[in-house]
Amino acid sequence: MVSAFRPDTLQEALAILHEHRVIPFAGGTDLMVQRRRGSGLLPTFEYPVLFIGHLDELKEVRSGDGKVRIGSVCPYSFLLGDERVPWSFKRVLIQIASPAIRNRGTVGGNIVNASPAGDTLPYLYAFDAEALVQKWDAQRLIHVRDLVTGPGQTALTPGELLTAVIIPQVPFNRFFYKKVGSRKANSCSKLSFLGIALVEDGVVLDVRMCFGAVAPTVVRDRKIEEELVGKEVGKMGDMIPGIVRTYESLIKPIEDQRCTIRYRKEISFRLLEHFLGTVLVL
Ligand SMILES: Cc1cc2nc3c(=O)[nH]c(=O)nc-3n(C[C@H](O)[C@H](O)[C@H](O)COP(=O)(O)OP(=O)(O)OC[C@H]3O[C@@H](n4cnc5c(N)ncnc54)[C@H](O)[C@@H]3O)c2cc1C
Repeated sequence: MVSAFRPDTLQEALAILHEHRVIPFAGGTDLMVQRRRGSGLLPTFEYPVLFIGHLDELKEVRSGDGKVRIGSVCPYSFLLGDERVPWSFKRVLIQIASPAIRNRGTVGGNIVNASPAGDTLPYLYAFDAEALVQKWDAQRLIHVRDLVTGPGQTALTPGELLTAVIIPQVPFNRFFYKKVGSRKANSCSKLSFLGIALVEDGVVLDVRMCFGAVAPTVVRDRKIEEELVGKEVGKMGDMIPGIVRTYESLIKPIEDQRCTIRYRKEISFRLLEHFLGTVLVL
């Protein structure tokens, strides 16, 4: 038997979270896999489930002031059809899972699940996205990169719910995203790379590079990025081997059923080289 709460409003959900130890359930696409017990058996939940996927207050998309605010339980397919969602984010979302999972899976669930292979995370790190976290009597903003503290770990405290993600509309004119999986659909990332840059008159004004699934959390190094600002893209070729070497100490993948350490490292470096040597100079 699984016991559950189904609040009518966000405030009611926050009150339940305040009074009870519960497991928020948005789309359930991670939870139902993690808690499965085999054919014909109900999944096990150690605490009651708190359904939040139906709450309208958490399904809003708003844009303004150079930011897009996405409600935490917006399913991917809904976001793919919303014109306020940046095209660059849609490039990431369309590669997640399959249409059926995209009808249920949410950005909030992807963040709080905090998998090293969570596909929205490299994008959210690159754009310095913030998470709006609420409890029954308070709220706070925290960068997504600070909310995710390790595999399956977040900085959420008891009673807190992730209610929205706020993505700044960073100016860029170079974009490269590559997800490497076993097949085109329904495939978790073996690794991923996302790079954006603003290049004007052949000079780098801003550059951000994120690697997914090659360390406990997304790899992004601001110091390396800052060193590239002001550099001419035409002269980047000589610098690339040194930049790759710098990332070698940061990219520390595990070996699992999806692929080997060597594969994850090698392909990450080749994608980085492609971004710096080809995409930037376009
Ligand atoms: C077949 C299949 C393919 C998949 N493919 C991909 C893929 O390609 N890329 C990828 O990144 N993922 C993939 N996933 C994983 C999953 O679909 C995503 O991580 C999805 O975004 C999870 O969202 P959800 O709403 O279903 O999360 P849930 O399962 O509802 O929740 C996940 C976790 O987050 C917590 N949670 C959810 N919402 C909130 C909230 N608002 N506040 C606080 N805590 C919350 C839950 O308590 C739980 O711990 C796949 C899953 C399946 C089953």
